[in-house]
Amino acid sequence: MTPGGRYLLIALATPLRRLFTYLPPADPDTAGTALQPGQRVIVPFGSRRRVGSIMGHSNEAVVDAGRLKRISSVIDEQSILPDSHLALLRWASDYYQHPVGEAVFTSLPARLRQGAPAILDVPRGWQFNPDGPAVDMPRPGARAPRQAELLALFENRYPATLTATDIAAAGIGNWRAPLKALAERGWVREVALNDRYRESPPLEQPLTLNRYQQQALAAIRDSFGRHRAHLLEGVTGSGKTEVYLQATAAVLEQGRQCLLLLPEIALTPQLVRRFERRFGPRLAILHSGLTDTDRCQAWLRARDGSADVVLGTRSAVWTPLKNPGLIIVDEEHDLSYKQQDGFRYHARDVAIMRAYRESIPIVLGSATPSLESLLNAGQGRYEYLPLPERAGTAKSPDLHVLDIRQSPMRGALSEGFLKMLDDNLAAGRQSLLFLNRRGFAPVLLCHECGWTATCHRCDTAMTYHKQRQRLCCHHCGHEHRRPDTCPGCGGKLIEVGHGTERLEQTLAEALPAARILRIDRDSTRRRGALEDLLRSAHSGEADILVGTQMLAKGHHFPSVSLVGIVEADGGLFSTDFRALEHLAQLIVQVSGRAGRAEHPGTVVIQTHHPDHPLLRTLTEDGYPAFAKAALAEREMLQLPPYSYLALMRAEAKQSAAAERFLQEARQLIPDTADVEVLGPVPAPRPRRSGYQRLQLLLQSPQRPRLQRILGGWLDGVEQLKSARHVRWSIDVDPQEMG
Ligand code: ADP
Ligand code: ZN
Ligand code: ZN
Repeated sequence: MTPGGRYLLIALATPLRRLFTYLPPADPDTAGTALQPGQRVIVPFGSRRRVGSIMGHSNEAVVDAGRLKRISSVIDEQSILPDSHLALLRWASDYYQHPVGEAVFTSLPARLRQGAPAILDVPRGWQFNPDGPAVDMPRPGARAPRQAELLALFENRYPATLTATDIAAAGIGNWRAPLKALAERGWVREVALNDRYRESPPLEQPLTLNRYQQQALAAIRDSFGRHRAHLLEGVTGSGKTEVYLQATAAVLEQGRQCLLLLPEIALTPQLVRRFERRFGPRLAILHSGLTDTDRCQAWLRARDGSADVVLGTRSAVWTPLKNPGLIIVDEEHDLSYKQQDGFRYHARDVAIMRAYRESIPIVLGSATPSLESLLNAGQGRYEYLPLPERAGTAKSPDLHVLDIRQSPMRGALSEGFLKMLDDNLAAGRQSLLFLNRRGFAPVLLCHECGWTATCHRCDTAMTYHKQRQRLCCHHCGHEHRRPDTCPGCGGKLIEVGHGTERLEQTLAEALPAARILRIDRDSTRRRGALEDLLRSAHSGEADILVGTQMLAKGHHFPSVSLVGIVEADGGLFSTDFRALEHLAQLIVQVSGRAGRAEHPGTVVIQTHHPDHPLLRTLTEDGYPAFAKAALAEREMLQLPPYSYLALMRAEAKQSAAAERFLQEARQLIPDTADVEVLGPVPAPRPRRSGYQRLQLLLQSPQRPRLQRILGGWLDGVEQLKSARHVRWSIDVDPQEMG
């Protein structure tokens, strides 16, 4: 791409894996050469106009220059995306084999995608005007009480400038209209606030670090200004967050910004609150509750450098920073960092590449690092920073494997475990039960004829939700009323298996005195419901918390001293080679919810396989020993992280169409490619939403070997006739094999 070429290369949000060539706009004021990568433009595309982003210039027209269209208009006077950012997006588009235009537009806030101007609103404040109105007028009095009250506030606080937050904090409601009246008459004046933000003092002071925290912080500081990846491994409560906070403060002192990624913001209110208290208005939080306008403003504040600390989930990895200094990825093992559809990037891996390209350090934090990161640390590519002790005085919880073979059961719980729950209740302590299945029962079965309720689109059992009296498919979302009797024979229907709703009922029957709180996607559907439930859990209004993985993440329940993993067996024998790693991470994460402060916690794992070797290693020797054994197994089987995968999925109404497509795709892989190809085979979930699903797996011991063939291969695959009859996708570094 020649800078200043005659033609412009434009990225558009289309599924086509290329850029589009346009002529510069006809407007004589906008010479094509003056246009820069990262400026948005409007272009004609088909019968419509679309927002595009300039990616570069070229001197060659791909098609006959006479047929090229012109850019209709230019949206941005200047580039809105730094070159380094466009380069990162190009890398990610190549690496994940996703159309570059979609990658670029996925990375933008919705408002900017739609073509809204990229203008940062300067925050405003108001100040008492000591000169008063230009013309004589009476001071607002009893007939305008709000104006009078506001004016008194500004006068008393003069010369301070007050923001909306300050006014609200003074307890004056409905102040916008009266304030406008005061400003129009000249009693107060508006002030643009550019830098006041940097002066507000933190509401919370840093803690004195223990020895390990100090070592970790020193190593991170030591790498400021160059690229270094650090793996910060510490159990929950070992003080990782405090290290993040102080590393962030240190990088801010150097006049640089910090980007912190989290799996989910709503589930980690404590971490967010601590960042708010330390960094106040210097913080921008990109959470899902923001309006499109606010999200765009937060993005602009990060890009312009008026926010120094940017906190967000997966997609925040695409936030441009004016002066990046540090990236932190909390809970780096978490599955939510991998986007599972569309642009299938892994935010942790993109963050590592980003830190490398920007020559800045990155900290990956976790109590249960992924095997990928542990291997990197073991081989010296990452610096390993352990926090082996819990900060303060709390002890780590004990893990117990509870053999429930032949044990009398009450619902999903063994009598032995119920007894422990009862004792804990009597001692006035909280318990937490984890079951990763919502609803009442996963199977509804006819006792007479064996009929089961299955989703006609996915061929999988539908989950019975008792409260709503409905059957729901957890794969495609299809749902309908529960029939009263078997639709086949009119026989009696029975519920098989246990979900959180049923577990809650079992507990209510077995321990009638206990106050039970259920936290899952069903009980938190209403906006604000999760916050309410978490508040009740904390204030001691509940004795037993029951929940899905929403309970496993981030949140600390200091008075929980007994934790139950209701069912571990599913994860022990799954077809997905990562299932065991995820189960181990989950057990440790859930355990981390317990035993803060003075009560050491106990964790009970109910299983029919108490002798499973890796489960034993985990409970007896801890996660690091488990990870070591699991890595040895992966190495023996040549599975990731000892090899690299790309998964091609194809879906069609008829499986023959998907099969033919994948067969032809397979033929196109060059013999010289030196990658192993498996399939086509049916996907682990062979049918979903009425589509048959098949897949083809490419595997190589070396990442570059796989990367070298993917691009050219997919260009060929796109041309296949059989591709028109299927929906296909490619997933590089797939995290779930389904
Ligand atoms: P993590 O992020 O690893 O779960 P946190 O940083 O949240 O750990 O620390 C756990 C608890 O210990 C918090 O209540 C925190 O205030 C406290 N804590 C952390 N570091 C220290 C320290 N150096 N001295 C005293 N308390 C600490
Ligand atoms: Zn029947
Ligand atoms: Zn379904």
